[in-house]
Amino acid sequence: MDKYDVAIIGAGPAGMAAAAQASDLGLSTAVLDEQIRAGGQIYRDVDKAAPQRGEILGKDYTDGTRLTKALRQSAVDHIAGAVVWAIEDEFRISYTCEGRGAQILADRILLATGALERPMPIPGWTLPGVMTAGAGQILLKQSGVVARGAVLVGSGPLLYLIAAQMVRAGLPPAAMIETQVRGDTFRALRHLGGAIRGWPYMAKGLKMLAEIKRAKVPRYTGATEISIEGDGKTEAVTFTHKGRRQRIDCETVFLHHGVVPNAQAARSLGVSHGWDAAQSAFVPELDEWGQSDVAGVFIAGDGAGIGGAKVAEHTGRLTVLKIAENAKRLSTQDRNRMAAPLRRALARELAVRPFLDAAYPPYSAALQPTDSTVVCRCEEVTAGSIRGYAKIGCLGPNQTKAFGRAGMGPCQGRYCGLTVTALLADANGQSPDETGYYRIRAPLKPVTLGELAAMNETTQDATE
Ligand SMILES: Cc1cc2nc3c(=O)[nH]c(=O)nc-3n(C[C@H](O)[C@H](O)[C@H](O)COP(=O)(O)OP(=O)(O)OC[C@H]3O[C@@H](n4cnc5c(N)ncnc54)[C@H](O)[C@@H]3O)c2cc1C
Repeated sequence: MDKYDVAIIGAGPAGMAAAAQASDLGLSTAVLDEQIRAGGQIYRDVDKAAPQRGEILGKDYTDGTRLTKALRQSAVDHIAGAVVWAIEDEFRISYTCEGRGAQILADRILLATGALERPMPIPGWTLPGVMTAGAGQILLKQSGVVARGAVLVGSGPLLYLIAAQMVRAGLPPAAMIETQVRGDTFRALRHLGGAIRGWPYMAKGLKMLAEIKRAKVPRYTGATEISIEGDGKTEAVTFTHKGRRQRIDCETVFLHHGVVPNAQAARSLGVSHGWDAAQSAFVPELDEWGQSDVAGVFIAGDGAGIGGAKVAEHTGRLTVLKIAENAKRLSTQDRNRMAAPLRRALARELAVRPFLDAAYPPYSAALQPTDSTVVCRCEEVTAGSIRGYAKIGCLGPNQTKAFGRAGMGPCQGRYCGLTVTALLADANGQSPDETGYYRIRAPLKPVTLGELAAMNETTQDATE
């Protein structure tokens, strides 16, 4: 079985930058990612799509080829199409690839598993035709497909980016139903200093809004009581805007109200997490080098707290400096010298975050869904059921598994975890930290018996 100085899970900007740097510093390095091409979320399929669809996806997207090229030219083993489903102590990584299970060993783990879109459970969100905005964007990046007449619902910079990309593709959204309210803008103004320091982001945001306006996409800001209606499929979105009930007929709805750290792998390793009120999400507890409280486990990129692609890249490199020092490939003095410009760049990139977090908070009605809304899609558990469990003594998400299987389906709680925590915290009058989160165990992702059996064959072949 192959053994590495460091195994990196995730080939997004954090993982790619970290891997190339680790290899430059003389560390034997493997990077595993479930996607067949390096890129992560922002640069998904960039090597293939940039020449064909670069104009539509924009320069921030095509810029990703800089990182994919550096990864290709390095001595890193990029194990592509590898779905990591278990990481055991000191460290044995199990993954499936092309229908077979396989394992590698590593002295240290760098988790660069990125972000997930925050679940947006509103009435009707399980109807066919509803998907996350990120999923809509994946169609465009991977297959060049844009949904005609889609309605975008939610808030945040990614929603504007996707709308602008749809406009450039010649199929603008039918409407944007936005959930941020005027009070959010006033609260965000407290962070105006940071927004001014992060002016390139503000300028890009204004440019996207201008593109959306030029395309005459109707925008309904401060929308409330949003639901998706239809008989067996999406037929319309209804909502209240400026006191009036509105209805927009459509077949496709893209939902988005922010992204949150993808913490499944970190939690499965026992890394401590705490509640970040500004980002309304749990984030791992890390030192300034991305080192967690579990020996040998490091985290970089959006999985360490949402910062965006450039922050992911810088934290990937920063974390590898610590790993290299830990592996005795870099002196403390050199580590600190190389870290200094990265820390300055990080501070510049992070300046705008408090403004964005305050300006585009999650849609409150999706944090506390109506009783009949399904929260755990895999096991079809409603918000009302979770509240019912609280009434009869359920204090934390792990207990909901015993009460009604919430979080026990194929997604292992990735898409309901935060909502279940929020519902229980509210019902029991506790904070999210007191309420806690699901205990995550392997398999992190579904694995078939066939894949497990094939892993046994691989291991036998190797020992024969
Ligand atoms: C759907 C979506 C679309 C986004 N689109 C944009 C965009 O267009 N522009 C933008 O500025 N920001 C976008 N973001 C935000 C974006 O995530 C970050 O800015 C940036 O990509 C973070 O980089 P990262 O390296 O931390 O993680 P990511 O780029 O998310 O990379 C993490 C990688 O880890 C892999 N991974 C995770 N778990 C496993 C596992 N168990 N086994 C194997 N591989 C695994 C994932 O497949 C992914 O390739 C998007 C976020 C999401 C969720």
